[in-house]
Amino acid sequence: MIKKSVTPQRPIPLLRKGGHETAESARTEGAMGTACIRTFGCQMNVHDSDRMRRMILDAGYAEVHSYEDADVVILNTCYVRENAVDRVRGHLGELVRLKREGRVKKVALTGCIGAAEESQELREQYGIDLVLGTHNTYELAEFVGLPTMRETFTPELPGTKGASSAFITIMTGCNYQCSYCIVPSVRGRMVCRPLENVVAEVERLVASGTSYVTLLGQTVDAWRDPSGDGKKFCDLLEQVAEVAPRVWFTTSHPSNMEDRTLRAIGEKPSIVKRLHLPVQSGSDRMLKIMHRGYKAERYRRKIEVFRENVPGGTLSTDIIVGHPGETAQDHEETLKLVGECGFDSAYVFKFSPRRGTEAADMGDEVPPEVAQRRFMQVLRAVERGAFERNQRKIGNLEDIYIRHGRSEGGKAVGETWSGHAVHVATDSPPGNYTRARIESAGPHVLYAGEPLA
Ligand code: SF4
Repeated sequence: MIKKSVTPQRPIPLLRKGGHETAESARTEGAMGTACIRTFGCQMNVHDSDRMRRMILDAGYAEVHSYEDADVVILNTCYVRENAVDRVRGHLGELVRLKREGRVKKVALTGCIGAAEESQELREQYGIDLVLGTHNTYELAEFVGLPTMRETFTPELPGTKGASSAFITIMTGCNYQCSYCIVPSVRGRMVCRPLENVVAEVERLVASGTSYVTLLGQTVDAWRDPSGDGKKFCDLLEQVAEVAPRVWFTTSHPSNMEDRTLRAIGEKPSIVKRLHLPVQSGSDRMLKIMHRGYKAERYRRKIEVFRENVPGGTLSTDIIVGHPGETAQDHEETLKLVGECGFDSAYVFKFSPRRGTEAADMGDEVPPEVAQRRFMQVLRAVERGAFERNQRKIGNLEDIYIRHGRSEGGKAVGETWSGHAVHVATDSPPGNYTRARIESAGPHVLYAGEPLA
């Protein structure tokens, strides 16, 4: 179902310029072209947008933050959320108006909707100039006037150097076929990036000041070295952990998660002590219908290994409630698993059908009011457990990595070495550490007192 991209005949003429807040300031400084990137969805999309940002800056565009100020608008879209296409339609309607008024000149639609069936219809209806899927983002280069690229990974592009934290895609696509998921259709089968290529990018980023890297992939722990030398995800993680001061990874799949990876999280000081391992359901019957490829018992065993090897580690998961065919008994088994595993947080989703997936045509739907009730029960069970565990952290002295500096009148947002979110009153900029005692806690966030000198 992956659609071909449509590349325009001629690139847009541009002048080279630096970063600008508005078209006016860009033009005052002699710049002719401005671009706005709007990102919807997950970290993979954030990272894809970052790569596109590198391209537009390299091509000489000034980045602006509103459509009104932009010559070129790139909508990097997500297909996972309910009403995702409708939401993008709203933005496209606004862009058609701005094009008619002569403000916006070109619009590109990229990401998961760009790879989906609806993209052709959207392209015709809204006169979109370029439609790209997730597998060929590099074709944006030609659109903005750069030499043609033919590689999925473009680590040599400048842009994120010097940022305190960076995402690094190590694989794209997915070889699973989960009943409810559109990813295999829109992102294609798994493609892994060579180990030395990833490590070289990490070295370059660290040399330029990056202190925190996150390795990304739809099933990141399924990574294998494409050379066929037998290297698996744990080998890559261990090498990156030797180079990067701080490293995390997401998203993992229980069937690929090796015990030695879980041990490495505990052993290697630079790996953040946090595991995000989606379970989706606690019922073996549902896991089979979803084609998840494991049973609840295997999942529990992985969590045991994590707990044994990473004491005090943070655990999060994804859970879908109301998938077609889910019975009251299946739901009870999910609640039981939530109670046993002790998640620190969970992304709980109410099932919503995606055109082109198996689950969309399964029938046997769960009534909306039942799905809503189950959703609230799972959410409350996760939050109850997380709140109790967070209360036990009060009084702990933590080294806190600052992710986002202090907002106006507010606190900085950081994370502990176990990857738990903390609000702390410090003026330390992102990328720095501060030491403070946890004074209070909610179900989602810890609150630290004044930093210690
Ligand atoms: S493993 Fe994840 S990305 Fe792959 S099909 Fe299943 S839910 Fe989608």
